[in-house]
Amino acid sequence: MTDNILKAAKLIKEQGNVIALTGAGVSVESGIPPFRGKGGLWEKFDPMEYADIDSFRKNPEKIWDVFLMEKKATIDKARPNDAHKGLALLERIDLLKGIITSNIDGLHQAAGSINVVEFHGNLATYSCIDCHKMFGSSTLKSDTGPPVCECGGFLKPNCIFFGEAINPIVLKRAEYMIANCKVLLIAGSSLVVEPSSSIPFEAKSNGAKIIEINAEPTEMTSSVTDIFIRAKAGETLNQIIYLINKMIVS
Ligand code: NAD
Ligand code: ZN
Repeated sequence: MTDNILKAAKLIKEQGNVIALTGAGVSVESGIPPFRGKGGLWEKFDPMEYADIDSFRKNPEKIWDVFLMEKKATIDKARPNDAHKGLALLERIDLLKGIITSNIDGLHQAAGSINVVEFHGNLATYSCIDCHKMFGSSTLKSDTGPPVCECGGFLKPNCIFFGEAINPIVLKRAEYMIANCKVLLIAGSSLVVEPSSSIPFEAKSNGAKIIEINAEPTEMTSSVTDIFIRAKAGETLNQIIYLINKMIVS
């Protein structure tokens, strides 16, 4: 266990009022590949071809067949790992006040987290691109091709594609959380996509301390981060919880 894990555990326990900012890296240990880096989805799919809203409108069938079916099948199989469970536990003992995530897999909620802001939406609900009627995930059948509404329009998952704006209510909730936290715990995010790329700066300028758990350093590591832990998010959260438990009972 490194010194930085001990420092992070102490900071979380002493300050409380922690907000987590999580990205695709927290779900890697659940079997969901990230977008960037080795083994990432962008090695296989061109984002502008498969995750752009104009491409979806032009050819929804192709994007469903090639990209969304595979992504949905991977997410449907995935279960929360120790990173999701650790963050849910920190919320239950009132040290963590909420999670802001770019993930669309719903695994934080599946682990029991309550206050979760999904700024890129999720794959649990779908809307018709023509009449905007909403559908639940259970109405989708993976063996009958791209899902279509009664009106004939294709369904699109309610997650943000490139070229789409983030819901302003979701952004307001995230801003409120960041303005009021004492510690920002970043886990598994490359911090290159907005608003993940600006949240650490906002938190820092509000006086929060920044803990970063990532497999690789990011652009923030040497400039904004106070405690950097280069490790897997699940293993690290386990160690942090173990140390906090010891501090509580001693
Ligand atoms: P990203 O793919 O850009 O970066 C992932 C980061 O996690 C990298 O910095 C990497 O070093 C780190 N990482 C990888 N494995 C790790 C592990 N086991 N423990 C800790 N860190 C680990 O992800 P991002 O920053 O979230 O941004 C990309 C976009 O991808 C988001 O907008 C999101 O909507 C979308 N996305 C979501 C999922 C999901 O829902 N699980 C999966 C892929 C992509
Ligand atoms: Zn419709």
